[in-house]
Amino acid sequence: MTTGDPMIVVDDLHKHFGGFHAVDGASLQIAKGSITGLIGPNGAGKTTLFNVIAGVLPPTSGRVFMDGEDITGLPPHELFHKGLLRTFQIAHEFSSMTCRENLMMVPGGQSGEKLWNTWFGRKRIADEERALRAKADEVLEFLTIEHLADHKAGQVSGGQKKLLELGRTMMVDARIVFLDEVGAGVNRTLLNTIADAIVRLNQERGYTFVVIEHDMDFIGRICDPVICMAEGKVLAEGTLDEIKANEHVIEAYLGT
Ligand code: ADP
Repeated sequence: MTTGDPMIVVDDLHKHFGGFHAVDGASLQIAKGSITGLIGPNGAGKTTLFNVIAGVLPPTSGRVFMDGEDITGLPPHELFHKGLLRTFQIAHEFSSMTCRENLMMVPGGQSGEKLWNTWFGRKRIADEERALRAKADEVLEFLTIEHLADHKAGQVSGGQKKLLELGRTMMVDARIVFLDEVGAGVNRTLLNTIADAIVRLNQERGYTFVVIEHDMDFIGRICDPVICMAEGKVLAEGTLDEIKANEHVIEAYLGT
């Protein structure tokens, strides 16, 4: 997919925890249609930056724009409706639900949530549930884990859980998805499946991605551009090869 105008603009963002500056004046742009990699040594501020952009943490100062609109500090549910999603690990309380049920939980505003509908709207609820179930099955098939539909989410492997996390973003009309450590603890085969799913979602459905990942093969294979952070700031941006050759980047990695 060809990349275009900036979709996300982060302008001089700061996030302080007490006196500690986890994000310390980060400025960057995420191009529409890109799969942008975010790398950097541990403690560089990558996850904190994600959390501020995704409305999980309020910034200390600075601004975040999406398609030119100021979205700084908007809560996650409002960003969700704009199509900005950050994946989260499957929470413990959902681990006893099946993979299909986990996906069916995602879209908000179902009629079944309202009490009177359980009395007067049984047919509508049944129709919605059927549609949701069909959508969940389509997502599981896209991710090549349809055989896990009835397995409890708590019992599937780490990599399969990552696919399920990605699958949740497909239950709604996501436009930009922030993935934190998609490959952590995932075997090579599943990592390839995750990479393929990301590339297909990007090419076929127009998703923009921002990916934090330590596995450089994974980053090099699917991400362009790559942004490197250290000590709360953006150090460099370019292709992975350019980043690897950047002396500030080398220094930041060697210094840890
Ligand atoms: P990265 O994702 O690049 O490894 P993080 O954003 O997780 O970096 O963390 C950046 C720094 O901010 C780390 O030193 C971390 O200990 C600190 N930090 C993150 N969250 C908090 C918090 N809630 N309270 C205090 N310090 C935090």
